[in-house]
Amino acid sequence: MLENKNQKTSLEKLGEFGLINHLTQHFEVKNPSTLTGIGDDAAVLDFKNKKSLVSTDLLIEGVHFDLSYMPLKHLGYKAVVVNLSDICAMNATPTQVTVSIAVSNRFTLEAIEELYAGIKLACERYQVDLIGGDTASSQTGLVISVTAIGEANKSDIAYRSGAKDKQLIILTGDIGSAYMGLQVLEREKQVFLVNPNNQPDLDMYSYIIERQLKPEARTDIKKLLQDLDVKPQSMIDVSDGLSSELIHICTQSGVGCQIYEDKLPLDPEFINVCEEFNLDSTTISINGGEDYELLFTIKMEDFDKIKGNPNLTVIGHTTEQTAGMNLVTRENTQIPLKARGWNHLGNEE
Ligand code: ADP
Ligand code: MG
Repeated sequence: MLENKNQKTSLEKLGEFGLINHLTQHFEVKNPSTLTGIGDDAAVLDFKNKKSLVSTDLLIEGVHFDLSYMPLKHLGYKAVVVNLSDICAMNATPTQVTVSIAVSNRFTLEAIEELYAGIKLACERYQVDLIGGDTASSQTGLVISVTAIGEANKSDIAYRSGAKDKQLIILTGDIGSAYMGLQVLEREKQVFLVNPNNQPDLDMYSYIIERQLKPEARTDIKKLLQDLDVKPQSMIDVSDGLSSELIHICTQSGVGCQIYEDKLPLDPEFINVCEEFNLDSTTISINGGEDYELLFTIKMEDFDKIKGNPNLTVIGHTTEQTAGMNLVTRENTQIPLKARGWNHLGNEE
């Protein structure tokens, strides 16, 4: 049925069970905590003496993704990764995912196979098991819901509420690029709508576009911190923008913060594209989203252990709550942080 590459197979031909079987047949179980995966009424897991962590996300076509520039394989990969990121944000290790989809007959089997190729790539890259899900039909758009499950020792888990006064605020990687990648893709989409023959040259935007279309979860940070003998005191992942995430940590911890404009880790390509779009790179980097880097606090005395690590940047420190939550600019003025981030309910500003 699938020999011809250009052949398009309608989903109706397979039926629900045929489809589930077809999509999941090549997934192998990798983790000892997965006792039973796909195929029964429920998966069976065993984390022994560890705590289990669960996080879920819902992605809706037209709201969270646009298939005109998001290839289905990337979408599958990203849908898994963003959920793994939430497990990483607890300083835990992701081990399993479930994937539920609602598809309309606008999609062919080949299209859904692409989606699952991305899901499989993520499962392999991050060594997590696909252990179940649900499959339903939808009237028009594509809906994907992923649930990620992870494990951690109780004493390792880092909460948003764990920050105390005078801790260092650390960010992994760099920020802002995923947002600017989206701006470039949106612009090219408009150009394409006007002139479909126009072949965009996106080479100079490759990093920021990759950050948008193929984000990675920082599963490496838990081990890095363990090796450095540093325990994160509070932690969150940057999905809605640095400013919003920092406000979550501060509010839930009952502290204030000062972060410094000149410490923000920005990629040179990101800075160039901000200039091209006439946008202020600081504003974009603190309010853009979808970088999936980790933001956390550590005790002041751990500074020497993390100093100079290329993965980690100290961007500021926590303060007493009464001092507020501020960005200190290069000119040394304080600007209060605002929660802007993504607002899927559409009442932004
Ligand atoms: P049920 O009728 O109990 O909901 P299903 O027929 O929907 O069972 O699912 C059969 C098995 O396939 C279950 O293990 C379920 O978790 C898994 N499954 C269903 N849909 C998907 C999917 N889209 N991706 C991965 N696993 C799935
Ligand atoms: Mg079902």
